[in-house]
Amino acid sequence: MAGADPNILHHGLVPAPKALQLVLEDVEPVGSERIDLASASNRVLAEDLKAKRTQPPFPASAMDGYAIRHSDLIGNETVLNLIGETAAGHPFDGSVGKGECIRIFTGAPVPDDCDTIIIQENVRADGDLITILETADLGKFVRQAGLDFQQGQTLLTRGTVLDPQSLSLAASMNHPVVEVYQKPKIAIIATGDELVLPGQAAKSGQIIASNTFGVAAIAADAGAEVDNLGIALDTIEALQQKISQALENGADLIVTSGGASVGDHDLVKPVMESFGFVFSFVKIAMRPGKPVIFGKAEIGGKTRRFFGLAGNPVSSLVSSHIYLRPLIRLLGGYPAQTVQPVTAIFDCDLLANDEREDYMRGIARRGKNGEILVAPFPKQDSSMLATLAKADCLIIRAIKAPSAKVGEATQVIMLRDI
Ligand code: AMP
Ligand code: MG
Repeated sequence: MAGADPNILHHGLVPAPKALQLVLEDVEPVGSERIDLASASNRVLAEDLKAKRTQPPFPASAMDGYAIRHSDLIGNETVLNLIGETAAGHPFDGSVGKGECIRIFTGAPVPDDCDTIIIQENVRADGDLITILETADLGKFVRQAGLDFQQGQTLLTRGTVLDPQSLSLAASMNHPVVEVYQKPKIAIIATGDELVLPGQAAKSGQIIASNTFGVAAIAADAGAEVDNLGIALDTIEALQQKISQALENGADLIVTSGGASVGDHDLVKPVMESFGFVFSFVKIAMRPGKPVIFGKAEIGGKTRRFFGLAGNPVSSLVSSHIYLRPLIRLLGGYPAQTVQPVTAIFDCDLLANDEREDYMRGIARRGKNGEILVAPFPKQDSSMLATLAKADCLIIRAIKAPSAKVGEATQVIMLRDI
């Protein structure tokens, strides 16, 4: 293409699925670190974990009762001599002879000479004389050594998200410290001369910077460590200074909002170019969220990624849900978990769509058979945060989708459960 910008790999409006594919290709976790198991909830294992012990390490009683030698059982009522006691953490260190038994409690090691537990409900105790009222099968209520797992077994594999069950298992396998993927570092920068932070005095012509709050929440929820660098004024120097700071702070991913259109006054692209970034694309064929720049650069020995989100609040959040979140998940070693549209039914008639895929903010309700019925809000301006916050879903309208009638099926992205 004559005069095509060599720093842009895919020119023009890139279709949304293609953009997602470009964002998610060649993504490796940013690194790994060893952390205390106690702080590893919901982190992702970066190693296979082998059991360092056999569990249980000894045959253990599963009940409160009496440890006996099964071969002693005779007829209906066996009488045995009680010669000792063992409780969890207190093994019995003597021997148990023919005709003898031991009081035992749950979790206690079953003495070597014994092989069966009689539960206390099935026993009459008279001093040291124990009458067994109901016989039991050999081995009853004895948890054999290794019932749960054997030393050396790989029970948790790399890539496992440490949920409560796997955390307890890792502990039981005797791993106080585990290797997990590092949280990717994401620097977030708002751009705009008109912006002030919530709570600051806004002068004439100024508005409150809102985007970074929602974007940071999505990033943190996806597993990132968020470095919020505040607001950059609309000058090359101000933005360069913030980007330098982000890089120095070790950002794996830099996200800006605003100034992302590719026009004379939009600084984001030229500034990122000055740091050596090359862009996969600079526009996506969707609404909201057309101006979205995605790029990469090798700086300081690692791959740095960059998202230039649109300044319009709805655009910045919709793009973050669709593109930013799965990218952060992959960088953190998690499965990408891209948004999964579901089928819903139009609750009203709709006009035909134009040449950009539309993600319309909508209200959803359940029909009488549990189906999802959706209707877009009448006003869809991408500045309208109150509408976005009220929205249950984004109704996806394909490029050039014809007008639609009540009852027709459509794809939606649910923003909350209904
Ligand atoms: P821009 O993409 O910089 O042209 O901004 C588009 C619109 O979004 C303008 O109306 C900006 O004032 C607004 N905007 C930009 N950044 C933010 C922000 N961080 N919070 C709220 N609105 C913003
Ligand atoms: Mg701006």
